[in-house]
Amino acid sequence: MKARLGLAAMIAFAPPVLAGAAPGDALRDPVRSYRASHELAILSSLSQLLAIPNVASDRENIRLNADAIVAEFARRRIPAKLLESPDAPPAVFAEMRGPATARRTVVFYAHYDGQPVDPSRWTGKPWEPVVRDGLLERGGKDVSWAALKPPVDPRFLVYARSASDDKAAIVGLLSAVDALQAAGVPPSVHVKFFFEGEEEAGSPHLARILRDNAALLASDLWLFCDGPVHQSGRKLVFFGTRGVTDVELTAYGALRRLHSGHYGNWSPNPAVEIARLIASMRDDEGNIRIAGFSDDVRPPTDAERRAVAAAPDVDEPLRRELGLSRTEGAPERIESRILQPALNVRGLAAGDVGTRATNSIPTEASASIDFRLVPDQTPERVREKVEEHLRRQGYFLVQSVPDEATRLAHPRLLRVAWGAGYPSSRTSMELPASRAVVKILSDATGSPVVRLPTLGGSGPNSLFTEILKAPVIGVAIANHDNNQHAANENLRIGNLWDGIEMYAALMARLDF
Ligand SMILES: [Zn+2]
Repeated sequence: MKARLGLAAMIAFAPPVLAGAAPGDALRDPVRSYRASHELAILSSLSQLLAIPNVASDRENIRLNADAIVAEFARRRIPAKLLESPDAPPAVFAEMRGPATARRTVVFYAHYDGQPVDPSRWTGKPWEPVVRDGLLERGGKDVSWAALKPPVDPRFLVYARSASDDKAAIVGLLSAVDALQAAGVPPSVHVKFFFEGEEEAGSPHLARILRDNAALLASDLWLFCDGPVHQSGRKLVFFGTRGVTDVELTAYGALRRLHSGHYGNWSPNPAVEIARLIASMRDDEGNIRIAGFSDDVRPPTDAERRAVAAAPDVDEPLRRELGLSRTEGAPERIESRILQPALNVRGLAAGDVGTRATNSIPTEASASIDFRLVPDQTPERVREKVEEHLRRQGYFLVQSVPDEATRLAHPRLLRVAWGAGYPSSRTSMELPASRAVVKILSDATGSPVVRLPTLGGSGPNSLFTEILKAPVIGVAIANHDNNQHAANENLRIGNLWDGIEMYAALMARLDF
């Protein structure tokens, strides 16, 4: 433990434990003391929610999650219901009216579904929550639930799918409600909760659910409760998310695998074609080389650039933590790099490697790619530009698996299969609501929050603004090293404690 702390200190990462705050705060004190006397109950309700498998396509279990959350609201006498759409996981909606003096309505958004899992990569099982006394990568050991005693060490972590993304937000919000109710503190705004059940599946039905329930969801602001805090450990408010769209490209060689000695240099190699195509679209510094791809990019405002410059510079410690000897686009910092669109190769498949490698020419090769988009790019325009680029490389594009006649007819043939996607979202940092959220959270955590124009990741935030005409501001509570979307996802317990105080402050103090 000591060595691990030493390392953490060396790379200048403040452990995201409870923020040191001025004593005697009228709101923070009762919220903190409520949490301190209910730590095990809060962790137990987190653990129960985490134990329900939550991949959006697992319709039976995803509904159990939604039902469990509705029951949590019911226990608190907060009216809640499911918002249904055909063939979609329901969204959970709940409403807590503020006093007559409340002028604004704020929706707290979170999602209860999680990314699919590959159980073979997990230490333990994805839906059997485990507490550990440190990060697995740094030798963290299991702590039995029965052995947990308050005060629970805030450096302990809960491991499970969606521990941080995004059930921490749901449990944090419910606990904040409990703490405020216990303290007799009314909300300063009318509070609505909207918990989505298929965010990690690309939110295919969200637009419809929002349109069908527009009156119910009317509000002045959406708070997007998801995402990790800044890598410095400081709390993060983000004013946008990047858009996203993905594509799978498949190139074709001969109909059957051919001996590379007898046929190499004669039968085209689809792996080489895919490699060349990727290199034609993206350079070694991460810049996209597709003509017209960035035509719609709106440059960041001066205020946005200033906010990025003011964020703590974490490039160096982050580079060391991740074992990277260089970063793309250096010396430009990560906060600035994510203001630009990105092309990421998610995976490649062609032939075999290692002991399974054979001296043969693969019959096909695929690349799976995701594009991260920034204002004002749209998935539709990006798809057009990418396809134009691929055609300019001499390829005939098809959408489905080509038959033999098609393969014979086109010397360069590429299957292009697009996934879903949505545009980016960006709220002005200078709105009264934006300033209010930053001030409340800086006060609540006792140190200035990091403000960033965008999260690197994506969210369906643009839909709230487009359909419901409400601005969206992101509030992050999870630790940055939470293995989000990967195996061994985790949540540092101190981050949950901080989150409860942040959400309580927003519910009780927000006004704009
Ligand atoms: Zn998420």
